[in-house]
Amino acid sequence: MLTHKINTGFLLAVIFLLAVFSIFNPLPWWLFGLPILLWFTIAALGSAFVQSGYHIKTLNKNLKTPGRQIAITFDDGPTPETPKVLALLKKYNTKATFFCIGQQIEKHPDIFKTIIEEGHTVGNHTFTHSPKMGFFSVQKVMDEVTFTDRIIKNYGLKPLLFRPPYGVTHPNLSKVLKQTCHYVIGWNIRSLDTVIKQEQKIFMRIKKRLAPGSIILLHDTSQKTINVLEQLLILLQQEKYNAVTVNELLNIPAYEE
Ligand SMILES: [Zn+2]
Repeated sequence: MLTHKINTGFLLAVIFLLAVFSIFNPLPWWLFGLPILLWFTIAALGSAFVQSGYHIKTLNKNLKTPGRQIAITFDDGPTPETPKVLALLKKYNTKATFFCIGQQIEKHPDIFKTIIEEGHTVGNHTFTHSPKMGFFSVQKVMDEVTFTDRIIKNYGLKPLLFRPPYGVTHPNLSKVLKQTCHYVIGWNIRSLDTVIKQEQKIFMRIKKRLAPGSIILLHDTSQKTINVLEQLLILLQQEKYNAVTVNELLNIPAYEE
């Protein structure tokens, strides 16, 4: 696996070799720019795609899962839309995982409580979900993670599952998560439900990629997603899939004992 350490080590080695070579044989300056550009491109792609495991190990699927299990995950709640998601999950007798934003839990404590009471798993999705988190200090990222853990602890659970906002990872986040020992949960089916406008397109995107062991990313933030969810739950029933919590799919604990 190509990690940030390997990429950076490789860059430094190439720059060193070029520098040594240039003592004997002057090289054009742009030749030094090429490996830097390559390093930057790899680092940007590795940070943007959660499945890459570039900064930190992530769990994105479980192809060895017994039977036809899959996991549906919802990010960015709780919101006023969440109860409709919960009602659908109940109607189809399905369990799911909710990666919640600390600030949102403070806004909707009753909805958050209901998620837990109905047997779904909750995980940490930072306190503010700031798009600028890649530029936060280690301490500030640490606060984002620990504040949210503390809020969830008020409900009697110490979460072990964490999902990075936007699926973006960066060196400071990986430093923090290595200390806090969370499991970093990604996905292998990104519905793009916050980007694509047409419900049918979102549904087809998921349907095409569906396979046992998959982790699906949705957001409990819009009616559009709720409509897609009902179609998805019907499809799962027809195709004899069993939707479980992400911790059950991955066979890991969701909370500290
Ligand atoms: Zn999110």
